Amino acid sequence: MIDIVLKKDTPLKDVLEIGGDCDKCGKCCSYGSGFMLESEVAKIANFLRIPTDKFRKDFLEETEIFHTNLFKIRPMKKDGKPYGPCMLLENSKCRIHEVKPLHCRVGNCSDHGDDLHTWFIVNHCLNIYDPESIRQYASYLETGGRVIQGAELDVLFPDKSKLKSILNYERFR
Ligand code: SF4
Ligand code: SF4
Repeated sequence: MIDIVLKKDTPLKDVLEIGGDCDKCGKCCSYGSGFMLESEVAKIANFLRIPTDKFRKDFLEETEIFHTNLFKIRPMKKDGKPYGPCMLLENSKCRIHEVKPLHCRVGNCSDHGDDLHTWFIVNHCLNIYDPESIRQYASYLETGGRVIQGAELDVLFPDKSKLKSILNYERFR
């Protein structure tokens, strides 16, 4: 296993190296699916030779993390279970391996798995210029959400009075 402490500002190349530590057995993709950013949709639809609108409709579910819109790849739900394999998993292999979304590229089942997901959400979903995003991140932390070095509220917002006014709904912009 790669010995590194993941921080908010760990560069993508190092994060990809940790995330790439994967045997591609397809087990994790059999129980859940990854997130896809809006900026990744067209390229992946194009790879699959499916019109982008149809790809969105057939394969993706809109979701939101920290007030940022993104997509979850639909699971193939069976037998009334709330989960299932990712729709893009075929014979235990990812159909879009060459172009799979960043969330899938940076995630794995190693001891770093939870930190890798946290790195993704703090860098790609938390928007420090959007007060609502900050409020949602603060409640995530309050309720025990995982934090990585450099993503603590007091590090991200050294100006305590500004942070307080955001958290007290005195600032909306
Ligand atoms: S897109 Fe590929 S890697 Fe990502 S969850 Fe689906 S099958 Fe797994
Ligand atoms: S992350 Fe782990 S469970 Fe998922 S495909 Fe790689 S080795 Fe298998």
